[in-house]
Amino acid sequence: MPYSIDHSSLALSRSALDRAADRRRDTAWLSQAWELPDTQVALVAGKPGDQRVAVNDDRTALAFVSPADAPDGERIFLGIDRVAGAGQTAEGRAVFAIMLAEATDSFASLREAGAVLDDREAGIAVNLVGLANWHGTHPHCARCGARTEIIDAGHVRRCPACGASHFPRSDPAVIVLVTDDQDRALLGRGVGWPEGRYSTLAGFVEPGESLESAVRREVLEESGVVVGNDVRYVGSQPWPMPSSLMLGFYAVATETTIDVDEDEIVDARWFSREDLKAAADTGEVVIPGSVSISRRLIEGWYGSDLPGSW
Ligand SMILES: [Zn+2]
Repeated sequence: MPYSIDHSSLALSRSALDRAADRRRDTAWLSQAWELPDTQVALVAGKPGDQRVAVNDDRTALAFVSPADAPDGERIFLGIDRVAGAGQTAEGRAVFAIMLAEATDSFASLREAGAVLDDREAGIAVNLVGLANWHGTHPHCARCGARTEIIDAGHVRRCPACGASHFPRSDPAVIVLVTDDQDRALLGRGVGWPEGRYSTLAGFVEPGESLESAVRREVLEESGVVVGNDVRYVGSQPWPMPSSLMLGFYAVATETTIDVDEDEIVDARWFSREDLKAAADTGEVVIPGSVSISRRLIEGWYGSDLPGSW
């Protein structure tokens, strides 16, 4: 199993901003940074699970505003740019965000913008969308049900009734490209997907389960294929829609007979490289878009880029 994925091609795993977590409780520093004209404020808006970031007119970069021009809303401190320039704090340029309720046409999802933003803005957008989705889905205390309040510059919610602190969560999910003894790849088509759309198998890690066990269980449940000891982690990508962390694997099957669980998968097939290339060329098979780790797993196995995408 010699293949790997190019980590720099994982669009939503990129980052260049120092999160500067030590400043999140430093209210004096935060107030000072908010007064500086070069401080940048990103905007996020939308419904829980579908948060979007404000983008510029050609939708290739984030649309930041200055603190003076920022709309009213819950404020989040995202970090510090450690670059030289004017009008900054001693450490660099501070980056904040404001959470708004309603997204307009000038907001874009991570699926749309994730791959075209530069490293710094991609990291900002993924962090921000993940935080906004978490705030939107966790207004109440999981212990006592009281309404919680935002503290630590947007990174913690605290319950005023029972004192519990609640932290943003990421839900681990495994995503795996399984190969057989002929080095063919197992791809499946989910229930309700358009005709021709195929992807790697994936599923959430259950409580008390190792990642390797989750890979074996998900592959067996969805496809009937048995994966043995050869399960290799190759990279991760946050997928905060609303809160997944996708953990990518290559694995080798020891029993290759396909028997799909029709509640989850309508079809699963073994593809040779030649089969997949031919089917992708004609559009008979369409693989996930360039923002997904699934495509990177498939192309890592295939050995180069493939045509077409969702
Ligand atoms: Zn509580």
